[in-house]
Amino acid sequence: MEKILNLIDGKLSAPIDGKYLKNVNPSTGEFYSEVADSNEKDVELAINAAQKAYTAWSQTPAQIRSDYLMKLSQLILKNLDQLALAEATDNGKPLGLCKSLDIPRSAQNFKFFAEALTQFHGASFTTDLNKSFAALNYTTYSPLGVVACISPWNLPLYSLTWKIAPALAAGNCVIAKPSELTPMTAFLFSKLVIESGLPSGVLNILHGTGQNVGTPIITHAKIKAISFTGSTQTGRTIAKASAGEFKKIALEMGGKNANVIFADADFNKAVKSTIRSSFLNQGQICLCGSRIFVEKSIYQKFKEELILETKKLIVANPLNEDTDQGALVSKAHMKKVLSYIELAVSEGGKILCGGKQKILEGKNANGFFIEPTLIENLSNECRTNQEEIFGPVATLIPFESEDEVIEMINATKYGLSASVWTNNVNRAHKIPAKIEAGVVWVNSWMLRDLRTPFGGVKESGQGREGGMEALSFFSEIKNICVGIS
Ligand code: NAD
Repeated sequence: MEKILNLIDGKLSAPIDGKYLKNVNPSTGEFYSEVADSNEKDVELAINAAQKAYTAWSQTPAQIRSDYLMKLSQLILKNLDQLALAEATDNGKPLGLCKSLDIPRSAQNFKFFAEALTQFHGASFTTDLNKSFAALNYTTYSPLGVVACISPWNLPLYSLTWKIAPALAAGNCVIAKPSELTPMTAFLFSKLVIESGLPSGVLNILHGTGQNVGTPIITHAKIKAISFTGSTQTGRTIAKASAGEFKKIALEMGGKNANVIFADADFNKAVKSTIRSSFLNQGQICLCGSRIFVEKSIYQKFKEELILETKKLIVANPLNEDTDQGALVSKAHMKKVLSYIELAVSEGGKILCGGKQKILEGKNANGFFIEPTLIENLSNECRTNQEEIFGPVATLIPFESEDEVIEMINATKYGLSASVWTNNVNRAHKIPAKIEAGVVWVNSWMLRDLRTPFGGVKESGQGREGGMEALSFFSEIKNICVGIS
């Protein structure tokens, strides 16, 4: 069985204690590879390698760092088919989605930061209080040292590279930890890192559990910053564990996002987008709009159309070309999502479509599939509408006025994103300002310009990724003030 190894100091390395975890193909339920179950000993080796590489990498001219990142981008594109197949097998998501979104975006992450780093610069201020006391202030950005990038399973290579690229671009050395549930593309990527000629130790990728390998990374004194994407629970653990040493942290966490459809919206576009924002990637995207608020006057019509379109989604083997919905990432996660559907029913919810595990035939008979599910008749306050389910489950809630819907949108502990569908230009500008979220889409969803800041408020996030925000996060900013007399 294939063994997924760490990348330490430019070499693929078996975990020091020789332990491995079983890696499951979620669409068949079968073990198909083994992943390094690393621990603090492997972390120590990796951090030492990164520390050793740091001086030279941090002093490498920006254009040369940029060239390395561009090479990584090109290598990902060159290996797109292999990486896409690996992602679909490891995660359960449709192969078509891996080919059109996950892998191209991973390449784009490197290309974007390869270009951005050549444009990253400080500011200058002429301080001219009076003629006898003037100064020139300027700011510089320098790398932090060795930083950690920890990512989840839902967008495996996509979210890992979204962190690694700006960290390297800013001149840091990196300890990256992908999710133990979806390690395969990070392993294949490790081979591309070696092929790219990136100096040894600049990027190290460690596999294993949050407890055994994540904890020693985040608590290590030499780790200067932690960029994390994952659950709010783990984010809270990281915030507490890193507080004592004042490490820089950026946390991208859970969500319970609203998708709001006003009666004046473009009906067909809103339906089409709602299908995507509810069910893309089996609803396992932090940005999915799992609470669908629909203005009362169009509620019945919108609901009927949405049910019709949801029933058309093909739940099948992720490797089939026409599959819309693949498998959920693990048996445990499938059970969690099914338990939320049961909870919804116990809270008075009415299942409009779906609601059950989908049992496929043949080699996918033991896969972790769930029918895309729509539920209505629930209050906004119930647990189903307050807790993150992170699966192909969305609820419909009618509303009558702008004030009422804004109150419901904001009545959760989360605040990642929202989308609003309206053709009223006044409302299109007024409502986003009142929504407590880091990203608000109007008449769109998941349209991402990599220059824009990305992140959440409340328990969805701290700090921002994207564009210059990410380069700033991975830098120490200094102000130099030169008196001129
Ligand atoms: P998770 O928190 O269980 O794990 C995320 C990563 O953290 C994994 O690599 C895991 O091994 C590691 N980890 C776990 N415990 C750790 C510890 N104590 N110390 C260090 N690392 C540790 O999350 P998940 O289940 O992999 O991902 C799903 C969650 O991610 C959902 O809540 C989803 O909303 C969130 N998410 C958020 C965004 C965003 O941009 N806000 C994007 C994608 C996913």
